[in-house]
Parts: sequence; C-alpha cells; structure tokens
Amino acid sequence: MATEVHQLHVFFFPFLARGHMIPTMDIARLFAARGAKSTIITTARNATGFTSTVDRERFSGHDINIKLIRFPSTEVGLPEGCESFHSLTTMEMLQAFLRAVSMLQTQIEELLVEYHPDCIVADMCFPGVSDIAAKLEIPHIIFHGWSYFALCAMDFTVTKDIPSDSESFVVLDLPDEINMKRSKFPPDYYLELVRQLRESELRSYGVLVNSYYALEPSYAEYYKNVAKRKSWHIGPVSLMCNKNTIDKAQRGERANIDEQYCLNWLDGKKPNSVLYVSFGSVALFSIPQLAEIAMALEASGVPFIWVIKSSKEDEERCRLPQGFEDRIEGKGLIVKGWAPQVLILDHPAVGGFMTHCGWNSIVEGVSAGVPFITWPLFADQFFNEELVTTVLRVGISLGFEVCWTSWPEEMVSLVKRESIEMAVNQLMCSGEEALVMRKRAEELGQRAKAAVENNGSSSLDFNALMEELMARKRPLKSSTA
Ligand code: UDP
Repeated sequence: MATEVHQLHVFFFPFLARGHMIPTMDIARLFAARGAKSTIITTARNATGFTSTVDRERFSGHDINIKLIRFPSTEVGLPEGCESFHSLTTMEMLQAFLRAVSMLQTQIEELLVEYHPDCIVADMCFPGVSDIAAKLEIPHIIFHGWSYFALCAMDFTVTKDIPSDSESFVVLDLPDEINMKRSKFPPDYYLELVRQLRESELRSYGVLVNSYYALEPSYAEYYKNVAKRKSWHIGPVSLMCNKNTIDKAQRGERANIDEQYCLNWLDGKKPNSVLYVSFGSVALFSIPQLAEIAMALEASGVPFIWVIKSSKEDEERCRLPQGFEDRIEGKGLIVKGWAPQVLILDHPAVGGFMTHCGWNSIVEGVSAGVPFITWPLFADQFFNEELVTTVLRVGISLGFEVCWTSWPEEMVSLVKRESIEMAVNQLMCSGEEALVMRKRAEELGQRAKAAVENNGSSSLDFNALMEELMARKRPLKSSTA
C-alpha cells in the first residue's frame, strides 16, 4: 500500500506573556505559510490579542488555529482573568502565577496524547513537556525568545559559581570580552528558575532563535559548537511575516492609537528625526520616573512618540507632570497603553529607539535600522544591552545598573532627567559619533532584510528545519485538532 504523506502538524506552547506570545504567533504563521498545520495552545485571555491575526491567516488559506486551555487563576489565589505575565504587580503574584503555569501540565498532556502532533515548540517554562514529548516520540523544540548572546551568557551564568560579592567579571570567553557588573545579572530566584528549567532544554530536540546569523555570528557558533545546542536562527520573525500595514498594526494587541493618525503624524516629520520611546509590554515605571522622562524629552526638543504602559483600570499609573501634554502638543505623541510598534519603527521619520532591551524590541529596532538608547530593567535585558552597545555598537547606554529585585515601584534609584536628555541629544543630533552609529544600524537593518529573503540565512535555516521535521514525520498518523 502506498504511504500517505500527511501535513506536518506543529503544536505551540508560548509562555503566557505578550513578549513570548507575539514572536511565537509569528513562528506559527511561518510554519502555516509553508503548508504546516499550526495549533497554538493558550488561555482565553492570552488569545484575545491574536484572534484577528489568526482569522486573517485562515482567510488566506493557512492552516492555523488556537486551542484554549483553562488557566487556574483562582486556584492559586490570583484574581479571575489574571492569566498573563503583564498583569502581575507583586512578587507574590509572580509566585502564584508560576504555580498556576505548572498546573497546566495535565491539560497539555491530554492534548498531546489526543492529537499527537509531529513537533512541539514550547517555552522553557513548560518543562513537563519534555517528558511527555519523549514518551510520545515527538520532537520538542524550545523557544526562549532570547538572543544567541543572552542564551550563551545565561548558560554561562547558571553553570558557573559566581561570587556574589564580586563587583564585576568577564562573562564569556568569546571574541568579545564582556565585563559586566554583578548587579546587572538577574536576581537569584530567576537564575535558579533558569537552572532548573535548563535540564529540559538539554533534553530537547533543539532551540529556535529569533535572530539572524549576521547579527551575532560568534554567539550563534558558540551556542552550537561550545554550548553544544542544536539551534535554528529563523529571525527576525517580525520581518519574516508582517509585510503589510494591518499585520504590523495589529501585532499582539489592538493599539490605543489610530494607526493612520500615527502614520500621518510621522509623515509630517523629517527622516530620522523622531525618537520612539517604549519599554515593552511588562515594565512599569513609578510616577517620579515618568516625570524625569517627560522633562528630559521636553527639554531635548527632539520629536518623540512615547508609549506609556497602563490599563483602563489603572490610569493613575501613567500620570504625567501637570501641563506637560499641552506643552508638547505637535512635538510629541503619547500613547497610553499599546502602540503599533513595528509600524512606527519602520517609518522613515523614526531615527532612534529608547528601549528596555526586550529581545523582540531590539530585533524589531535592528530590522528597522535604528540605533538605540538602552535602559534595561530585568531578565535577559542587560545582556541584550551589552550586545547592542559593546558588540554591535549601535546604542548608547543610560547606565542603569541594577537589575530588578522585585517590581519597579521598589526601584531604589531614579534615572535623572539630565542623563536621559544627554543621551537623547547625543543619539538624535547629527554629531559624528551619532552618524557613524546610525550608519552601522542601517547596515544591520539591510542585513536583517537580506536574512529573510528566499535565499537568506534565516529562510534557509527555517527550510532546513522544515525538511528535517518532514523527514522524521511518521506516516499514517491522524491529526484532527
Ligand atoms: N509591543 C507593541 N506595542 C507596545 C508594546 C510592545 O507592539 O505598545 C510589542 C513589541 O513590538 C514587542 C513586544 O510587544 O514585539 C514586547 O517584547 P519585548 O521582548 O521587547 O519586551 P517584553 O514585553 O517581553 O518586556
């Protein structure tokens, strides 16, 4: 009897945070665009920002769907509907959240047994997946959402005994000597978590990386050859699949600003004149820190778009100095809530990005060819800052030196307006140093675009992964999710 060849079916288990959901959704779209069936497993609240994207993909004939699982918020003492990392505001909530994430294991197992996909792409935070994947002989691929640089640095950090009293030390024995202050490393609880979860990573089939080879070649090589991890660089995933305005504008969330208004506003500005200021989907600043940023932006005289994270329930969180919004009218655009980041970054008027160095933001800024002002806050962000400022030399550091110990309200130090204003002027002026940095950033942007062309390094690596999975695919399995 002839062997029936089925469509490749891939399951995705993104971590329940927008910074993980967004690139994972892009990756799922990539698989579906190549003829695979992509099933994203998540909770109802986390799915909300993605339904229109999935509908559009399905309308274009791509086989992609979301399967919902129930998040046990109330069982762990979290408010009903608190299902995503960005809703957490205290350490106690984080601990409860992680307990709830571990309780998802049973539902995940049931789905895997029922549908038996050909491959699982899961966040490291679902370590139980590796056992069930091994039992069912399904390749289990991990997606951390980190850069190669951060993957290497994190691996070094969790496997070495770093004296807690040391001021600074060399992180890696690589072509670039990375000498980082101890205070910039993630806190012990975070490193302990990574250490525990590393076991499942080592047993996994491989690691997907949202990066491109030319961006960090020595770290890609180190990760593969020294850290001995099988990996595929398939980024920038935002460039791979968000080609039109609607995809860029509705990535992850409905924006709190009309995208056409935003584009018109940018159209009225000179090329490379606008600074985009945004700190991702999680980071919150205290009211005094917001005031320092506001004063610095105003004093700099540089046109800006500033995204301030807030929610309808909590407008107090984004209170700005009195009269500020009137004074900056025309010069600055403030978005409270969610902005269409990729759409904004890709506009020719945008010439700089003040960022918390979340990896998605870095990779999106690099894709757009803009230089950065770096203000990392936690997790892998200090590593990303190091890559941007020391290795790639496309960013100016604000010099923030203490990784979050808990939540931003408890941050002990403020970054003062004078430092912010100085960095803004330095990056956005037409001085020699800024121009050289801008040139380098533009080259990286061109290389990012080349990487996602048909014969680009990321497309080829993605093809190789698809071929490998197809070759492994066992015939005559049913798949009906
Ligand atoms: N993002 C966005 N609009 C916003 C804030 C964030 O589109 O107003 C997107 C951004 O483009 C990126 C993701 O959310 O894809 C944030 O991920 P990142 O790794 O930069 O930071 P995190 O939110 O994980 O700290």
